[in-house]
Amino acid sequence: MTADSHAHYTDSAFDGIRDTVVSESLAACGIIVGSGYDTDSSFAALALADRYDGMYASVGIHPQYDGDVSVIEHLCATRTAAKIVAVGEIGLDYRNADDAERSRQRDMFVSQIEIAEEYDLPIVIHCVKAWGDMTEILRRYRPKGIMHGFTGSAETAEELLRLGMYISFGGRLTYPDARKAHRALCAVPDDRLLLETDAPYGAPAGHEGPSCGTMLYDTTAFAAMLRGTRTEDLTARINENTARIYGI
Ligand SMILES: [Zn+2]
Repeated sequence: MTADSHAHYTDSAFDGIRDTVVSESLAACGIIVGSGYDTDSSFAALALADRYDGMYASVGIHPQYDGDVSVIEHLCATRTAAKIVAVGEIGLDYRNADDAERSRQRDMFVSQIEIAEEYDLPIVIHCVKAWGDMTEILRRYRPKGIMHGFTGSAETAEELLRLGMYISFGGRLTYPDARKAHRALCAVPDDRLLLETDAPYGAPAGHEGPSCGTMLYDTTAFAAMLRGTRTEDLTARINENTARIYGI
């Protein structure tokens, strides 16, 4: 069983099949951290976590969504002791973002970093085309956290590692042309590496339809092959790392 550091089982892709998929995915992963991306999905992620052993929740507002961050703070304040293990996914996404939008995203990101710090939670970061501002903010605030769905270069990974981040790779790692991510994977030390499904997105090579926990074995085996280690040894490291960063 490889722990899944990041997934969205509240997504409409799982309507009508959610209970089956979640049960099968938990049987395959043991631990799953389900992530919100706005206030409604954060409440939904928490409700799902409350229903299943092994399912945990990350609450936050994604840069491409809007919402009241005080709701996220309220969730953390009242539920930290229960199943909220992180603030996320939060971050910066500068695709089609003008200056005003970039500034709005930075403000929302920083407010949520401050919430995570207040409640001693790690953050789960989404970053697209915003690496300069991202590393500047991480250097200034030094949150503990995870760069999710990483597909960047080994150099970017090394910079994030120096800033204390854990780095999580999803199914896209298994695509034959993801050579940059392959090199980045090999630059991450054993104690900072995580894997994820990002369900329902980014199914590993050879799979159709929404991704889910039963596909994580393929990503794990592929990562183990690239790192020149045995799948069961990598699985043990991933499980330790997931438990450590999320405090599970
Ligand atoms: Zn995600």
